[in-house]
Amino acid sequence: MNNRILIAEDEARISAFVEKGLRSNGFVTTVVADGLSAYEQARVGGCALLILDLGLPVCDGFTVLRKLREARVAIPVVILTARDSVSDVVAGLEGGADDYISKPFAFEELLARVRLRLRGEGAPEATLLRVGDLALDLRTRRAHVDGRVAELSSREFALAEVFLRNPDQVLTREQLLSRVWGFDYDPGSNIVDVYVRYLRRKVGAGRVETIRGVGYRLRA
Ligand code: CA
Repeated sequence: MNNRILIAEDEARISAFVEKGLRSNGFVTTVVADGLSAYEQARVGGCALLILDLGLPVCDGFTVLRKLREARVAIPVVILTARDSVSDVVAGLEGGADDYISKPFAFEELLARVRLRLRGEGAPEATLLRVGDLALDLRTRRAHVDGRVAELSSREFALAEVFLRNPDQVLTREQLLSRVWGFDYDPGSNIVDVYVRYLRRKVGAGRVETIRGVGYRLRA
């Protein structure tokens, strides 16, 4: 399976964040920082998907997309756009993008879109994550605890998903913050602790252990 992802993003902070996250999920990455390189790299082939920022130097994301589609390059494209630019999103989708994500975004959100766009080309992804009697259905976005449904908010679900993908592993607050909330969050924020508390209330307090001074762990 081809798992190379092309990232076209001129902000080093964002491309590093995306690259790190994708690599830790088993993807191989190529990063380019301008539109022309993005076009040339995608055209050459060898990448399974393009994550395309719209605001790129040399030529912008729209132009890259248009030129790729004109050249009949069928690579799936997920565009990155500033929040609230609805017109950008519409233009992007009309221009042949497959999906979009608004900045700032949480890594899990991007990962979900990348996986969705790659499905059918690679190995099918499990739609049910299970650890003991705790299960998450990734299609319906529902949690099941001891056979009953637990209603989780989208953040709670994203947090639970990170835990279930990494059972019995200590996850630091920083890891959880970047995975669930994205790169724009204040690392001094206690939001992770707050949401772990919410999650415990819904799935049972004993499942998520506190590792003092480090972070949290889902009991396998
Ligand atoms: Ca940019």
